[in-house]
Amino acid sequence: MIVKEMSRHDCSSVVQEGHVACLACCLDDKPYVVPITYAYSGNCLYAFSMPGRKIDWMRKNPNVCLQIDASSEGEWKSVVIYGRYQELAPTGQWHREYLHAWSLLEKRVNWWEPGGLKPAPQEVSGHYPHLFFSIDILEMTGRACCASETCN
Ligand SMILES: Cc1cc2nc3c(=O)[nH]c(=O)nc-3n(C[C@H](O)[C@H](O)[C@H](O)COP(=O)(O)OP(=O)(O)OC[C@H]3O[C@@H](n4cnc5c(N)ncnc54)[C@H](O)[C@@H]3O)c2cc1C
Repeated sequence: MIVKEMSRHDCSSVVQEGHVACLACCLDDKPYVVPITYAYSGNCLYAFSMPGRKIDWMRKNPNVCLQIDASSEGEWKSVVIYGRYQELAPTGQWHREYLHAWSLLEKRVNWWEPGGLKPAPQEVSGHYPHLFFSIDILEMTGRACCASETCN
């Protein structure tokens, strides 16, 4: 087995083909990692969420890191993304991005479930607390482990 650096193009392919990432954020020197579902377009990942710890932390520190991988029969590809959190408000300057995020994410069946459900019952109120956010990709690296030098 050998490990190779992946090209930007190969990294993009892994991100494009995947839909779940481990999202790491950090506050006051404490790390926090959770899986999220994403859509990839342009130089951004888009996601849907309810308010909670990760959103609180990313609002305070927008620098995040994500890891996405693909594996088959002992071979693997892993991509690490360094990025910046941007909350997409439904109105004002982020309105178009908000609709763009929604239109990409809703292509998956039951797309809202993983981000919309919480263990405790949510307060019933007149407004919906859910939100969309983007991660602008600042840097992306990839490594692939495969059987021979010529593998893809
Ligand atoms: C395959 C998959 C896809 C998902 N997709 C999304 C998505 O697109 N959007 C989204 O918002 N969420 C998604 N989730 C759920 C996500 O991983 C979090 O559980 C959820 O977002 C709540 O995070 P929070 O920071 O708001 O936690 P809070 O409700 O604020 O709770 C924080 C506390 O709960 C614990 N906790 C929270 N989440 C987890 C977890 N996953 N595992 C173990 N402990 C946890 C933390 O350690 C902390 O103690 C997905 C989960 C999976 C497995």
